[in-house]
Amino acid sequence: MRLNGLGVSPGIGIGRALVVTRGTKNLQFRVPEHRIDSEIARLDAARAQSREQLQHLKERIAAAAGAEHAYLFDAQLLMLDDPMLVDRAATIIRVERLNAESALRRALDEIASLFDQADDPYLRERKGDVADIIGRLCMNLRTNGDPVDLFRDIEGGPLVLVADELSPSLIAQLDWQRLAAFITDAGSWTYHTAILARSLHVPAVAGLRHASSVIRPGVLIAVDGSTGDVLVEPSGAVLEDLDARAKKRRAYERSLAEYGTLPSVTQDGIAIRVEANVELPEEAPRARERGAEGIGLYRSEFMLAGMTAAGLDEEAQYAVYRRLIDGMDGGRVTVRTFDVTESELGVVQSGGSNRAPLGLRGLRLSLSFEEVFQAQLRALLRAAMHGPLRIMFPFVTGVEELRLARKAVAHAVETLKERGISPPPVPVGIMIEVPSAALTIDLLADEADFFSIGTNDLIQYCLAVDRTDDRVSRMYEPLHPAILRVLRHVARGARRRSLPVSVCGEMAADPVLLPLLTGLGLREFSMTPASIPLAKHVVRGLRIAETVKLASRALKAATAAEVERTLADFLSPARTN
Ligand code: PEP
Ligand code: MG
Repeated sequence: MRLNGLGVSPGIGIGRALVVTRGTKNLQFRVPEHRIDSEIARLDAARAQSREQLQHLKERIAAAAGAEHAYLFDAQLLMLDDPMLVDRAATIIRVERLNAESALRRALDEIASLFDQADDPYLRERKGDVADIIGRLCMNLRTNGDPVDLFRDIEGGPLVLVADELSPSLIAQLDWQRLAAFITDAGSWTYHTAILARSLHVPAVAGLRHASSVIRPGVLIAVDGSTGDVLVEPSGAVLEDLDARAKKRRAYERSLAEYGTLPSVTQDGIAIRVEANVELPEEAPRARERGAEGIGLYRSEFMLAGMTAAGLDEEAQYAVYRRLIDGMDGGRVTVRTFDVTESELGVVQSGGSNRAPLGLRGLRLSLSFEEVFQAQLRALLRAAMHGPLRIMFPFVTGVEELRLARKAVAHAVETLKERGISPPPVPVGIMIEVPSAALTIDLLADEADFFSIGTNDLIQYCLAVDRTDDRVSRMYEPLHPAILRVLRHVARGARRRSLPVSVCGEMAADPVLLPLLTGLGLREFSMTPASIPLAKHVVRGLRIAETVKLASRALKAATAAEVERTLADFLSPARTN
């Protein structure tokens, strides 16, 4: 079987499927031989627990509504002993070495197809009862374990994580040495999990729609994160071919590495600052090795892996910020305060929802949870005593919010002073990722110390296209004329006030776009460390005098496709300009 989605992190990964759905509530994988008996014991324990619960439910319903209404539970109790269900699942565990949850689901599929074939509508309806009992068994199997132990019981060897959706915090806390690749039903290029995959060098494919329901746990899968191809149970010849391609890719990456150490200066002597986007503190030294002058974006919410910000106290955060500063060895570190939604912060208020990108999120959220915000600011200010650190606020929509945030910083400084700590002055900047901020860049420039353009969000809000929805991903056009205009506007606004402005969205990591972005007046870029060597190589071949002409031609184009053609002409070796 071959599936095709969006290649979101290049490279080839081969491993056995670990199917994870509903945010790890449902895990399906192969167990090692020596664990088969204990897996069957787990299943038996879940059966015993389910029997007890059903007995109890039956009594409750009989007492409340009369014995005749309790028959449903009699049927379910009988099903627990039906050889086609739990016993069949035990056989599947033994023969196919699947975990108990997978085996139960397989048994359910088999029974469901029998029911579907039945003519009797009464029988067809019983499918719901079987699903109900399977759901109960799975609920009782659930260990409530810490997701850090996600791989604990799984057969050794490389794994391909197959998920409906994957949160970056889940990925962040896994042992990714065991992850050959991951693939998801949802997502797109700027999906945070995809961004994390690129920084961890784990091949990934997103937007596969049904992969988590059609791929069976434990099967061998080969993932090509460049083409978006996912091959299920590939033949030996295909595997050999993939292996050869993987080797070639690694050799190409090695050949680029030397550019990372060279100065990032154009042919006509303009310095272009190249920094790294970092999601995990342990990446800092690697970013430096790849040639990053600093960290242009540390997404602090990645610290929240497995815990809430409220639980992540000042000390724990301080330790992480110190690690970043120490890891950069004098290079500037820009930390963005939490850009999360309410539930990710563990503080959902009534009416709040995890899926509300335009609700209480980013700086708005920090401003409404003073304690959490103050703890983060104090930790940042203390860390700033050990090296150059900048504080950046996400999702700012205008001057008022920036003023409130600055007040919060001043308050944190006062608190520290009361403790006898005197932090140095710390530059305070904002992400430009909401159109209202981009359009008021002149006003914001009076009150901010620096800007960083978050093209990922800026594009989605300018074009009204959900960046995580693969069904509209064709409309997510970084080269849309509106985006070019907005970028020029921000670059000009910042330059007029001599304020530093960088680009930290995924556009910065695309080497093909660098000529255009420099032509629009941008001089600082922050990207995933892996992209730095190639970016520096491209910069060293540019002449700003030429890229400015390219940008003015591109700004005359009426569509993204025309802009692309203008760019292609510029990049073609035969160009005459
Ligand atoms: C952006 O929006 O471009 C950005 C860098 O932030 P994030 O991807 O974390 O939203
Ligand atoms: Mg953003």
